[in-house]
Amino acid sequence: LTYNDLIDEHRICVCVRARPLNKKELTVKDLDVITIPSKDVVMVHEPKQKVDLTRYLENQTFRFDYAFDENSTNEMVYRFTAQPLVETIFERGMATCFAYGQTGSGKTHTMGGDFSGKNQDCSKGIYALSARDVFLMLKKPNYKKLDLQVYATFFEIYSGKVFDLLNHKAKLRVLEDGKQQVQVVGLQEKDVKCTEDVLKLIEVGNSCRTSGQTSANAHSSRSHAVFQIILRRRGKMHGKFSLIDLAGNERGADTSSADRQTRLEGAEINKSLLALKECIRALGRNKPHTPFRASKLTQVLRDSFIGENSRTCMIATISPGMASCENTLNTLRYANRVKEF
Ligand code: ADP
Ligand code: MG
Repeated sequence: LTYNDLIDEHRICVCVRARPLNKKELTVKDLDVITIPSKDVVMVHEPKQKVDLTRYLENQTFRFDYAFDENSTNEMVYRFTAQPLVETIFERGMATCFAYGQTGSGKTHTMGGDFSGKNQDCSKGIYALSARDVFLMLKKPNYKKLDLQVYATFFEIYSGKVFDLLNHKAKLRVLEDGKQQVQVVGLQEKDVKCTEDVLKLIEVGNSCRTSGQTSANAHSSRSHAVFQIILRRRGKMHGKFSLIDLAGNERGADTSSADRQTRLEGAEINKSLLALKECIRALGRNKPHTPFRASKLTQVLRDSFIGENSRTCMIATISPGMASCENTLNTLRYANRVKEF
């Protein structure tokens, strides 16, 4: 079996990760409604009420490539999701890894690292772990002789607009040429020589992303963050790994009362997540018509969904609390659709 045979069999990997109950949930005595009975099954125990008002739990079971419980570490999640994709970009392929889920479910913790406490640590996130392995792979004789250069980009898509997180949130234009090649004009591609270089960029980009935020409805939860590791050979693209911390997928609880801006943001997020699902599904089927143009997110990721050597993984993150049950079920249903053919 060659590397290409292997990837053909498994171009899309879909996993779920549950985080532990947090302090806030424990304080209000929210209950954990998630169980992960085996390494690829997740169960949701949804509270329901009969007409006679007796209560019961409705159990729903979902199966994925992997299910990670609250005790899993970023390193473990990484090993089964993004790590196998590092080789793809050395084999001239396009790899993409998405974190999908409601705000607060652990997308940024998984992808970017831990930014919650005082000692912010991005070295354990999937961005950093991927970078670490890219530099390890570069040392292998087979790849060393190719003389590849490594670059990184970090940008944000907010309300259909693109902002460079490595260049003071400069607003960038997206252009499509006659051959349907998509270009983010002026996006900074930073030269990186080692993992530490990458860690610095993640810190810069992340502080740029979250600066000036206050409420729970913070800008970062309403935007997609895209971190890319690009391999070039004599200036030409060799492979690209896109790691994406998606906008929160929750529906605005009462969209009618939300202000106009919030409603527009919500509509844009919905549109992009729907387009994303269709593009990933098309990748698995080699479907000719893929709705790239339906959103800015899918448009800028266009080249990651085409070509023989494209691979994708999705990490659906879920909050374990009963209060999050509806969002959790929505997340699991979406993830199910992505892997279903
Ligand atoms: P999101 O990016 O999906 O909105 P975050 O990654 O910011 O969510 O996570 C929300 C909070 O939960 C953060 O304080 C984060 O540190 C914590 N958290 C998330 N996932 C885990 C986990 N697997 N283990 C421990 N804490 C977690
Ligand atoms: Mg986040």
